[in-house]
Amino acid sequence: GGFQSMGLSYPVFKGVMKKGYKVPTPIQRKVSAGRGGGGHGGGTPVPARRRWDGDGDGVSQSIPAILRGRDVVAMARTGSGKTACFLIPMFERLKAPSQAGARALVLSPTRELALQTLKFTKELGKFTGLKTALILGGDKMEDQFAALHENPDIIIATPGRLVHVAVEMKLKLHTVEYVVFDEADRLFEMGFAEQLQEIIARLPDCHQTVLFSATLPKLLVEFARAGLTEPMLIRL
Ligand code: AMP
Repeated sequence: GGFQSMGLSYPVFKGVMKKGYKVPTPIQRKVSAGRGGGGHGGGTPVPARRRWDGDGDGVSQSIPAILRGRDVVAMARTGSGKTACFLIPMFERLKAPSQAGARALVLSPTRELALQTLKFTKELGKFTGLKTALILGGDKMEDQFAALHENPDIIIATPGRLVHVAVEMKLKLHTVEYVVFDEADRLFEMGFAEQLQEIIARLPDCHQTVLFSATLPKLLVEFARAGLTEPMLIRL
């Protein structure tokens, strides 16, 4: 299955072509390790408070699985093509710009990663017309206010500043339906656990979550188990 067989909409497919991607990378098309497999070491995140979307055959690929609305935990490092993995389904889910509040949220551990993700979002999402705001520690609060004033569809943020902005500027996150924890192990290593909980508490009950991480320590497995819905584990 290449990108043509994923049923992508024209604006998204055009972005993929513009980036020059011919075939999906392994993480983008990886056949799932299956539910309940593994069992030791990192452990497989298991079910879940609420059901979202059954997996049927138990064999799925990451982009198609995310496109179907599944929560996904993917063990993938930088260089694997993980960014496109969460951006492509995000664009499909959002479809067209809306003025009704941000619907996607990408949480990054660092400024550098957030800036890189923004660049990617602009390139890959060029033909979607979706708007993105950056909420970063170290930036001026006025700039962030201006960015949020533009009715972004997507927010890319570092957790500390996002909580600050949510409190100080009363930024509402109740319209968010798609959440990405990027480099999740680093989010925790950098001590953002508390901020992540504050952010999650502001999200609506029903949202899709995808988590990308180079490693899957016990802490993260527990986090996924508590907060994600029957997450599919994708491991290279
Ligand atoms: P990432 O792991 O998201 O940091 O991506 C690493 C690099 O792989 C980036 O330069 C991407 O543009 C590139 N990339 C992602 N997906 C593909 C693909 N399917 N084909 C070729 N390059 C890709």
